Amino acid sequence: AAAATLTVFDGDGRLADGHRVPLLANVGGAKDAVAAAAAGAQGVGLLRTEFCFLGRDLEPSAEDQIAAYRGVFEAFAGKKVVVRTLDAGADKPLPFLTDASEPNPALGVRGYRTDWTSPGVLERQLAAIAAAAEGTTADVWVMAPMIATVDEAAHFAAMCSAAGLTTPGVMVEVPSAALTSASILGEVAFASLGTNDLTQYAMAADRQLGPLAALNSPWQPAVLMLIGLTVAGSVAEGNGKPVGVCGEAAADPALAVVLAGLGVSTLSMTPRALAAVATVLRSVSLDEAKELARLALAAPSATQARAQVRAGLPILD
Ligand code: PEP
Ligand code: MG
Repeated sequence: AAAATLTVFDGDGRLADGHRVPLLANVGGAKDAVAAAAAGAQGVGLLRTEFCFLGRDLEPSAEDQIAAYRGVFEAFAGKKVVVRTLDAGADKPLPFLTDASEPNPALGVRGYRTDWTSPGVLERQLAAIAAAAEGTTADVWVMAPMIATVDEAAHFAAMCSAAGLTTPGVMVEVPSAALTSASILGEVAFASLGTNDLTQYAMAADRQLGPLAALNSPWQPAVLMLIGLTVAGSVAEGNGKPVGVCGEAAADPALAVVLAGLGVSTLSMTPRALAAVATVLRSVSLDEAKELARLALAAPSATQARAQVRAGLPILD
């Protein structure tokens, strides 16, 4: 049966057979969060905390941090909010954390790695997140960007636990993390695929360079395989811990179907994409989504994967 076209998301991400795929929002602060809630987002799948403090020369105070995070938690009372710790570096420099003279910033001290060069900042941020969560009803999850090894995941989980944060997770956006996801998920409660960086690192193609855009496609067979492996790692680990997606891939309706078919548990995106993604998801059953995911994985190129999946989604005509 054809799905009705949603012009406004009604806050219920699901497939045609009722299989739920909650649709969350990527936000950069409280103002975004209020707009995302109004757009029907079922929670926040990625709070980019570095966006709250871009351009600052000094580490934000505890008070500033608590106010910024609390604004988001209040916009999503009773809902899930995934807070990403500062992802400074490369395309998002923060003068108090990153070294602008690095020769290869995308491969440098960025994301979680800044804890090695600026000890204390991450610990204070986790304390601020815990303080902001107090007295709100949001279900606060916390994740680290740019995790590459199992030891890093274990260390981050221990830091979260010391701060009183009970749901630690990691972004899977470095191919090494995708390949070792079973062990990584043994240390943390969830993972969230950052397909923007995962694609950049899998294809060795700077995500900011226009001439490399064709390589920088999440439809690339290698990227789809890494996503599939990450989910398989969660299943292998035994308890099927949640693996979501919070990269731009989730905002492409045809790719969202493939991601659902690959077994991801939630999709987080820019709020403007929610209605279109919800409509296309509702046009297929889980079995159909799995079949389209199989087709995409078997395709020899990004172009062919995309064309074959779109051909199997009449609602996109
Ligand atoms: C990603 O890398 O896919 C991601 C969601 O994080 P960012 O775009 O902020 O690096
Ligand atoms: Mg990233």
